[in-house]
Amino acid sequence: MDYVGRIYRPPSEAYSLLLQVTEGCSHNRCIYCGMYRDKPFRTKSWPIIEADLVEAAAAGEVSRRVFLCDGDALVLSQRRLLQILEGIRKRLPWVERVGVYGDTRSVNRKTVAELRQLRQLGLEIVYHGVESGNDEVLRFADKGGTAAECVDTADRLREAEITHSVIVLLGVGGVALSKRHAQGTGALLTKMDPPFVAALTTTVIPETPLGQLQEKGAFELPSKFGLLEELHTIVAESELTGCRFSSNHASNYLPVRADLPQDKAKLLTAIRAVIDAGDEGVLRPEWMRGL
Ligand code: SF4
Repeated sequence: MDYVGRIYRPPSEAYSLLLQVTEGCSHNRCIYCGMYRDKPFRTKSWPIIEADLVEAAAAGEVSRRVFLCDGDALVLSQRRLLQILEGIRKRLPWVERVGVYGDTRSVNRKTVAELRQLRQLGLEIVYHGVESGNDEVLRFADKGGTAAECVDTADRLREAEITHSVIVLLGVGGVALSKRHAQGTGALLTKMDPPFVAALTTTVIPETPLGQLQEKGAFELPSKFGLLEELHTIVAESELTGCRFSSNHASNYLPVRADLPQDKAKLLTAIRAVIDAGDEGVLRPEWMRGL
């Protein structure tokens, strides 16, 4: 397979065939993100993608899932996305689900009819790094979208019957915006009402703009228990009608997994008990954490 640079994928795509159709991220500006800083955005040519599909087909039925890499492959033109999905159908007929990272830019520039067309050809899930529901935090993080645009994204994906898996980022507003970040995120999740939400924890990478702000003393990450307060507020303030909520990504100090709304009270009690006990011994140790 033609892999350029380091490849990232969501944890739930661990057993998927990773098909790299773009390199890097077309936005590449989020201040905390170090994934593609040294990898300029490029679309890969069809002959390279097709050669990967031929190679994957020769290996046989290894996985029934395909994940399209890199950072925001949904930004590709409709024509190219259709070509890729048709290529997967033709060469790997056993594939049942195709997933991709997308965001407000890549989803909202497509019509619902176009998204439906992608869905009919197998695009079943879009992973969307919403990060925060507070516009001040989104501006600070240079996320390049607003909370209102995220609601539009959720509506479009729902209408097209594409599963929307949302990622929020604990600590991204720092101590200064912590409360507004958590409250805004809870409120936004209520409006979006996605079927999957994953909370990740900000890891400050030295060579990113966020790392430089921290170095200058202009950004302070909340304490471990401050991050759990954010998690508690997000769960408490969101009203979700049918959501698998998790924080079991390796970046988190407290892994949880719950079905909301039915497990909400139990989840809030469990998070509060850990905060009140103030015992770092029950948290995931630093050496076990990762990006
Ligand atoms: S967080 Fe996502 S959108 Fe932002 S720069 Fe990184 S890959 Fe691109």
